[in-house]
Amino acid sequence: MTRIVILGGGPGGYESALVAASLGATVTVIDSDGIGGACVLTDCVPSKTLIATSETMTNLALAPGLGIRPHGLGSGTAPALPAVAWGMRSSLDEGVPPLTPPEVVSVDPEQVYERVRELAKAQSLDIEHRLEREKVEVVHASGRLVGPHTIEANTGETFVGDVILIATGASPRDLPTARPDGERILTWRHLYDLKEIPEHLVVVGSGVTGAEFASAYRAMGAEVTLVSSRERVLPGEDPDAARVIEDVFVRRGIEVLNRSRAASVRRIGDGVIVELSDGRTVTGSHALMAVGSVPRTKGLGLTDVGVRLGAGGHVNVDRMSRTSVPGVYAAGDCTGVLPLASVAAMQGRIAMWHALGEAVSPLRLGTVSSNIFTEPEIATVGVTQVMKDTGAIAAEVTTVPLSRNPRAKMMGIEDGFVKMFCRPGSGSVLGGVIVAPRASELILSVSLAVEHGLTVDQIAHTFSIYPSLSGSITEAARVLRPRDFFAGFDDRV
Ligand SMILES: Cc1cc2nc3c(=O)[nH]c(=O)nc-3n(C[C@H](O)[C@H](O)[C@H](O)COP(=O)(O)OP(=O)(O)OC[C@H]3O[C@@H](n4cnc5c(N)ncnc54)[C@H](O)[C@@H]3O)c2cc1C
Repeated sequence: MTRIVILGGGPGGYESALVAASLGATVTVIDSDGIGGACVLTDCVPSKTLIATSETMTNLALAPGLGIRPHGLGSGTAPALPAVAWGMRSSLDEGVPPLTPPEVVSVDPEQVYERVRELAKAQSLDIEHRLEREKVEVVHASGRLVGPHTIEANTGETFVGDVILIATGASPRDLPTARPDGERILTWRHLYDLKEIPEHLVVVGSGVTGAEFASAYRAMGAEVTLVSSRERVLPGEDPDAARVIEDVFVRRGIEVLNRSRAASVRRIGDGVIVELSDGRTVTGSHALMAVGSVPRTKGLGLTDVGVRLGAGGHVNVDRMSRTSVPGVYAAGDCTGVLPLASVAAMQGRIAMWHALGEAVSPLRLGTVSSNIFTEPEIATVGVTQVMKDTGAIAAEVTTVPLSRNPRAKMMGIEDGFVKMFCRPGSGSVLGGVIVAPRASELILSVSLAVEHGLTVDQIAHTFSIYPSLSGSITEAARVLRPRDFFAGFDDRV
C-alpha cells in the first residue's frame, strides 16, 4: 500500500488526501493552522461570507429604485428616498445625490464578523470530519522535510511517505514600511477580529483582493480610499471590465487614487497615515494592505533535500505537480501557478493520480474560470482581450452590454456586459468575460463551451430563458454568428 504524507491541509492538501484515500493509499495530512487552510479559515471563505452581507447591503441601497421604501422615512406617493438610490447612472443624470447604505440600514459589525468566524470554523471541522471518515490521519502540527521521504513535525514525530505532497499555501506580503499591527494597519486576515466597520478604510493595492474589500466595505458604510499604483484598478484583468468596476466605484463614492504608490503606512493615534511616493498623504481610520502574497516555503527544508524553488520562493512544479525531486509533489499557492482554490485542488488531485498510477492529463490553465467578487462581479474564462490585442491569438470578439438585456432592465441593473471570443472561421468559443451581479453563476455555460469546443452556432441555437441575464450569452453568440436572422432579438423586446 502506498504511503502518502501531505504537508498543509488547505484545498491543495485535503482534496489530494481524499483522492489518495479513495484510491486505497494510506494518507497523513499534517497541518499547523487548521484543516481547510487559509482558504477556509482566513481568505476565500471568510471574504465571500463577508461579501454576502455587503451584497445584501448593495441590494437594499438599490431597493428604492424598485419602489421599495423603508418604513418611517416618509409616506404617500412621493418618494421618501431619491428615486433611484446608490450611484445609479439614471439618478446621477437627474442630479439626485447618491444615497449611501447607512442612510437606509446599517450592519452590526460584531454579528457579521462572528458569523464569518463561526462559518469558517464549522467548514474547517466539516472537512476534518470528512477526512477522518475516509480514514485519513490528521496531525495538527507544523512540519518540515528532513529527507526526500520524511517529514518531521514540531511534536517530535516523524512521518515517512513513499510520496510527499507540499501544499503549504501563502501568506500576505508584508512591506517593511507598512508593518501590520492588527489594529489599524491590517492584512485581510485581521479584518474579522475588528469590532467595527472602519470609518475610513484606506485600501492599499487595487488587485483582486483590494478591489473586493473596497467594494464590500463601501457597501457596508465605510468611507473607502483605494490606492492603486497602476493606471486603473484591477490592472491584470479585462480592461473593459476594470473600467466598469472603476466607474461603479467612483459613482458609489470610493475615492480611487490611480498611479499612486504607497511608500509607507504609519499609525497616528486612532488612525493611519499613508504616504504616497510623490509626497501626498492620505489619512484614514484603518489601512488594509492588499499587496499580494508570498509562498510559505521558508524553513521547510525544501532546498536541503533538492527541491528547486523559483526566484520568488515558489516551489517549481511541472504540469503533473512534480517537483525536481522524484516522489515529492507540490500543489496550490506555494507553487505560484495560479492562486485559486480550484487550481490548488486540481494540482493536488493530479499529483495523487500521477503518483498512484492513474491515467491523468497534465494541468490545463486555459480553461480555468475565475471570478472577482466585486459588485458587480467579473467572471472570466479562456482567452483574454490582451491575447487578442497583442495578436497572441486570432479571435473574433463581441460585447453585449447588459443595459440592453430586458431582465437587467427589469432588475434595475445598469452596469455590466457579456463579452465572448471565438475562433475566426470555425466559430469555436475561446473565452468570455461577464460583468454582472452573480457573474460567477453565469460563466459556467461559457466555461462548458470553452472546455468542450462548442461553437457560437451551437450556443446560438440553445434556448435561454426569456427574460434572463443569460440571454445576453446567447445573444453574444448570435452576434458572432455571421448574418443571423435572430441577432438582436432581445433588443427588439
Ligand atoms: C482574500 C482572499 C480571497 C480569496 N478568494 C478566493 C476565491 O473566492 N476563490 C478562489 O478560488 N480562491 C480564492 N483565494 C485564493 C485561495 O484562498 C488560495 O488559492 C487557496 O487557499 C490555496 O490553497 P492551498 O491549499 O495552496 O493553501 P492554503 O489554503 O493556504 O492552505 C495551506 C495550509 O498549509 C498549512 N501549513 C503551512 N505551512 C505549514 C507547515 N510547515 N506545517 C504544517 N502545515 C503548514 C497552513 O496552515 C494552511 O492550513 C482567495 C485568496 C485571498 C487572499
